[in-house]
Amino acid sequence: MAEASTPPLDPSLGLSLLGLLASFSDEAVCLYDADEAIVWWNARYLEFFPEVVPIIRRGLPFIETVRRFLALQYPQQAAPERLQPYVDIAMIRHRTEQGPLEYQRASEGRWLELRMFPLPQGGRFKIWRDVTARHRQQASASRVFELLATINVGLLVHGPDGRLVYANTRFGAELTSGFVVSVPPLAERHDRAAFWRGFADVFVHDEVYRGLVEEVGGSGPLPHPVTLQTRNDRWVRIEEQAWDGGIASVWVDITENKLQEAALARSQDALVAANRRLTEMAERDPLTGLFNRRKFLGDADLLMAQNDDFALILLDLDHFKDVNDRYGHQAGDDVLCAVAGILRAELPAGAIPGRLGGEEFAICLAGLAPEEARGLAEVLRRRLAATVLAHGVVVTASFGVVSPRPGEDFRGLMARADALLYEAKRAGRNRIAD
Ligand code: GH3
Ligand code: MG
Ligand code: MG
Repeated sequence: MAEASTPPLDPSLGLSLLGLLASFSDEAVCLYDADEAIVWWNARYLEFFPEVVPIIRRGLPFIETVRRFLALQYPQQAAPERLQPYVDIAMIRHRTEQGPLEYQRASEGRWLELRMFPLPQGGRFKIWRDVTARHRQQASASRVFELLATINVGLLVHGPDGRLVYANTRFGAELTSGFVVSVPPLAERHDRAAFWRGFADVFVHDEVYRGLVEEVGGSGPLPHPVTLQTRNDRWVRIEEQAWDGGIASVWVDITENKLQEAALARSQDALVAANRRLTEMAERDPLTGLFNRRKFLGDADLLMAQNDDFALILLDLDHFKDVNDRYGHQAGDDVLCAVAGILRAELPAGAIPGRLGGEEFAICLAGLAPEEARGLAEVLRRRLAATVLAHGVVVTASFGVVSPRPGEDFRGLMARADALLYEAKRAGRNRIAD
């Protein structure tokens, strides 16, 4: 009678036979000795993991393979000390896990199922099977599922037990540079907060990360959308909602919007600044910086309408033509600036000076009685006459001081101030007429 079960293999024959079978296999096979050094692999293994081709050699410790693999895959993402936790997890898994374990490789999207077997003499035997076709089948069972995989937003679903149950390709491959999906330890976090911590640790700037981990520490979805900047300078907006007992997170890369926003804000700032400069130019006399004629007259008219006590001082420098003739036009300009400086220094708060044109200035005063305005004009007259200005020039001025008469409008007031000013000139200059 034939034997019902498979007969035991001679141990020495066993391994070589295994090698023979494995070289024909559709599955990737890899053998580690009791010291965790890789001792054998088949051709499919190199095909599944082309990135190990440059680093693999017989006798290479598994831990070294992991380190080199991670360093190759994530050159910018993580310094060696950052990757250490994942190295540790890979080692624990290597020593204890049996599988089957399914995961998707970010580089080419292949889904793999991994099984690991301890060998009787120590060492481990690992087999990867390509299960992409099955995943494709599952996906095509629902068109929506296919859409989710390729849709332009990252989608992440945590189940009711807090376990990460789904992450679409965009989330894995692009938004997180393949880290979450291709490194199984992160993708399989049971604890949502731990998942976030692991994610934020690697990808998010620290200050954002702290607040974020606090917010997602609770069991519910994020109470409001969160925008964060990743270490590779992308901006991601995350919105969450309760879904099927768990939580669905939608991740949108908003980097382009952010850049456009920033550019818009910059051009708006430039526009506001240009507008401010234009207004300044329209309102100010470029030589002295005082309000120009148009701005001064407009303001003064308004101020007179709003105040019961109002006064206007008009002043014109005496024989200013002589200053120009003697010292030159540039010196004349300097003297005009110095006069503006004296006006600014001597005037009380609330008094508004302006340059009406040439060497003619005006001051409007709200809340000042006529005699107070005259007092102020006298202070100015004396100060001017007693001050040595630019280029050693001393100038005097003649003044007209007015306060509105009942029923008098601003034009009338100006005309009267003008007339008084010329009265002061005729009377010998360096004096006040009111
Ligand atoms: P009066 O005492 O009668 O006012 O004599 P004046 O010489 O001051 O008056 P006039 O109107 O004859 O001459 C004013 C002079 O002011 C003529 C002009 O060259 C000079 N002036 C007007 N605007 C400016 C300016 O912006 N810069 C300089 N440097 N001079 C100016
Ligand atoms: Mg003059
Ligand atoms: Mg004049």
